[in-house]
Amino acid sequence: MIDSRMKPEQLKRVTGRFGESNRRALAQYRESDAVKAVEILVAEDGCDACKAAAGKQYDLDDVPVLPNPECTHKKGCRCTYVAITKSYAELGIEGVEDPDLSGGA
Ligand SMILES: [Zn+2]
Repeated sequence: MIDSRMKPEQLKRVTGRFGESNRRALAQYRESDAVKAVEILVAEDGCDACKAAAGKQYDLDDVPVLPNPECTHKKGCRCTYVAITKSYAELGIEGVEDPDLSGGA
């Protein structure tokens, strides 16, 4: 529970619990045959440590821990994992073109 009398350290403990949802997401990605890697999505106002971890693909066996222990943001790390899915060809589905994701939409 958040209340207005909370101190910043207490708020950081709340964001620290986001680790649980990230651990669950990662476990699901590892179980899924459709996911080949993960990326880290960082908040727009994220700290430099979190931004440094973003924009890379991580092998499912070598994923940085979230919340990022190096995070210096005053409200704590709000990074999250994003699944990188296999292509249709990698999934063994022939004759289907993968969507072009480079435009972002
Ligand atoms: Zn951070």
